[in-house]
Amino acid sequence: MNTYTGSVLEKLKKHYYWEKEFLQAAEEVFESLDAVIEKEPKYQKYNILERISEPERVIMFRVPWVDDSGKIRVNNAYRVEFNSAIGPYKGGIRFHPAVTLGTMKFLGFEQTFKNSLTTLPMGGGKGGSDFDPTGKSEGEIMRFCQNFMSELFRHIGPDTDVPAGDIGVGAREIGFMFGMYKKLRNEFTGVFTGKGLNWGGSLIRPEATGFGAVYFLQEMLGAKNEILDGRTVAISGFGNVAWGAAMKATEMGAKVVTISGPDGYVYDKDGISTEEKFDFMLAMRASGRNMVKDYADKFGTEFHPSAKPWEVPVDIAMPCAIQNELNLDDAKKLTANGCRYIAEVSNMGCTADAVKYSVNTTTYAPGKAVNAGGVAVSGLEMSQNSMRLNWPEEAVDVKLKEIMKNIHYSCLHAAEKYGQKGNYVAGANIAGFKKVADAMIDQGVV
Ligand code: GLU
Repeated sequence: MNTYTGSVLEKLKKHYYWEKEFLQAAEEVFESLDAVIEKEPKYQKYNILERISEPERVIMFRVPWVDDSGKIRVNNAYRVEFNSAIGPYKGGIRFHPAVTLGTMKFLGFEQTFKNSLTTLPMGGGKGGSDFDPTGKSEGEIMRFCQNFMSELFRHIGPDTDVPAGDIGVGAREIGFMFGMYKKLRNEFTGVFTGKGLNWGGSLIRPEATGFGAVYFLQEMLGAKNEILDGRTVAISGFGNVAWGAAMKATEMGAKVVTISGPDGYVYDKDGISTEEKFDFMLAMRASGRNMVKDYADKFGTEFHPSAKPWEVPVDIAMPCAIQNELNLDDAKKLTANGCRYIAEVSNMGCTADAVKYSVNTTTYAPGKAVNAGGVAVSGLEMSQNSMRLNWPEEAVDVKLKEIMKNIHYSCLHAAEKYGQKGNYVAGANIAGFKKVADAMIDQGVV
């Protein structure tokens, strides 16, 4: 690593040694940027690396709420406003027991580069709480969302910071949070994306992350003169992202054979391919049980408790669940069983050693490129809200396809330009970085 890049990374490691996920994300980006920093001294001159790796602002607050038995509970909550050089802070809200400030910082950092790749004017941010929605009643979820928003409302706004969903936060939670925001501000604005369709949401937004990922995958295959039709695909997770990816991959002629949850994975040899099966995925998410065994029970498929889908022989792997869900052992198993493509859909879904291994053994693309379709359609939702218009489904889908195609091109182009031909990790980091870094230089030391 070059001395400037190395010294900034060392400083981060010393300063934030307990924020393992944030450091993992920063190290991967910095490693990719070496060639750029060497070739273009302006980034060192303006000390961009030190500035870009520090959030502009972090908001931390407590969320007290009352459960159904009358007990008072307290959760931690965060909004990390990472970078606003190219637009208002933009990024989802995650409710998951593993959420820490370090998780939020890694996600906000990644979001900054991802949003830049979309070509839309969105900065990077992320928020969330260690609140666990598993097994909570609708009333508990609503009270939590309202109390969460009773603090966050003063920090966000349609031109300041625009949250959306993420793990544990879907249309229902966005509805509860938006409702509270509107009441406190007395304003109906496009402050959230992923809204309900009859109150400002965009068509295709629920499907966008999964659809976009498959559009990106098609481009990866296309670059090698291959097609998706006839391939087998292993997907992890069973939520909104896995649902969209499974539907689109099936539509393109692939056979999706797995989904997974915290309890294990389902192997469906006939393919997760019917309307009934897709709808059941939505019902599992809505049940709040967080168990995919329900799918196996319903459709009579194999269920492998406490195991991950990466042991199944497939052509393509699409991790769609959570960070670091695919490790080096999993990557080795996939390759040994003939897997040739890994399209990472979850944010930092693969561990650092799994990425290094897979870049050499498969065609691997990182989450910040593959999953950018979700936030891209969020950007389109913001445009529609500003214009007070709703675009038809077809129009949004065409734009999403175009954006994913462009992201794919930008990754390959940037990788080649900086001497790392075919490396999607380097390409995504370089292309995402340059736009933000150049905007920061233009805007002075602020
Ligand atoms: N949470 C999603 C992501 O990781 C979507 C963010 C958004 O739509 O703002 O990109």
